[in-house]
Amino acid sequence: MSGSVQSIRGFADILPAQTPLWCRVERIVRETLEGYGYQEIRLPLVERTELFRRSIGEVTDIVEKEMYTFEDRNGESITLRPEGTAGCVRACLEHGLLHNAQPRLWYAGPMFRYERPQKGRFRQFHQIGVEVFGMAGPDIDAEVILLSARILRRLGLDDVRLQLNSLGSAAARAAYRERLVDYFKAHYQTLDADSQRRLHSNPLRILDSKNPAMQELIAGAPRLLDHLDADSRHHFDALCALLDAAGLGYDINTRLVRGLDYYSRTVFEWVTDRLGAQGTVLAGGRYDGLVEQLGGKPTPAIGFAMGLERIVALLEEREQVVNPAPHAYLVLVGEQAVAAGMPLAERLRDALPGLRLLVHCGGGSFKSQFRRADRSGARLALIIGEEEAAAGQVAVKDLRSEAEQATLSEQQVIARLRDLLQERKS
Ligand code: ATP
Ligand code: MG
Repeated sequence: MSGSVQSIRGFADILPAQTPLWCRVERIVRETLEGYGYQEIRLPLVERTELFRRSIGEVTDIVEKEMYTFEDRNGESITLRPEGTAGCVRACLEHGLLHNAQPRLWYAGPMFRYERPQKGRFRQFHQIGVEVFGMAGPDIDAEVILLSARILRRLGLDDVRLQLNSLGSAAARAAYRERLVDYFKAHYQTLDADSQRRLHSNPLRILDSKNPAMQELIAGAPRLLDHLDADSRHHFDALCALLDAAGLGYDINTRLVRGLDYYSRTVFEWVTDRLGAQGTVLAGGRYDGLVEQLGGKPTPAIGFAMGLERIVALLEEREQVVNPAPHAYLVLVGEQAVAAGMPLAERLRDALPGLRLLVHCGGGSFKSQFRRADRSGARLALIIGEEEAAAGQVAVKDLRSEAEQATLSEQQVIARLRDLLQERKS
């Protein structure tokens, strides 16, 4: 039996009707990042499995059950990247980018997680992420958050809210962890199976539970923000003051812990309630211990990643971005017309950078070619039949007005197209 092969569950195609909106999002994000002096880094899609185990943490959803891990033909364990931070740190260490430097970096591309696919949740999804190294103070935290705010604002997403929290130092978190375990132990029967399992491995993650039945218990838990070390408290207050001074609103969410182990101090998320449970469109935080954990010198760092599928889903509810129509469609009827028309099209493209010219291929009558020209959305039809081919001329018809068809020389066609390109620009 032969049938058509389907895509893999959770791996989506992004079709031609959707790519213009994706391109617009990517362009706005790139321009905003450049405006803050961030530089792009391009990283491999596959890394050694060990990199993710050592950075993301053994007892996280990602490492426990979401990684695409394979043995390559040499028996080495490799993994499709589930996120970008680990690879970015690896690359910085490998190429010495952190020696006497404080790079501000960004990356874009697909990530892979074996999750249950649903609205806003895929197994291959796309992130644009930012990582900044070597700066410990609240000023860079404020910059990164203001940058994320500007990106979302420029995209036109004004109904997303910023949530902010501090995870404190490792020591403060360890002390808090004990209080939290005591609290949850006292309510052990109320914990769901996931949380019971996390009670000893990763109790902070219980705060992150999306199970409605757990929410009341979580609301009564001791708050990490009340148990911060003095330095982290000061850092957090200074960050809040900087955001206040910039006029950026935020909600302090003491239950925001983030799913990955490597965060410390500042954590933040931008959320919407328009995407159901998949409401986080951008998330990040400080990860001061990660560079050292991966074999580098102690280096403070902060970053975030935004989920493009979710952002595009929010935007496509209200805006249509369409592929640009061609300026002209070249109709070619007969063998001589094709022989004259193909090189003419190339000369027109040489003469007019930015020209969008669609050349009819596949033959057919004037009538059927005209129908295609009209459907293409082109403004002009350039027509070559036997007669025009013999005379070295081109008939030009404005498809969007009642104006008479005119027969022009090649130079006149170029002039006419140049006018059209100017007109569209202004
Ligand atoms: P969630 O809680 O939604 O699973 P996360 O904490 O696992 O998110 P991060 O690892 O912080 O997500 O990734 C940053 C952003 O990437 C998320 O806020 C989201 O917008 C996007 N994202 C994460 N996982 C997926 C996925 N499976 N499909 C689509 N987008 C995703
Ligand atoms: Mg997740």
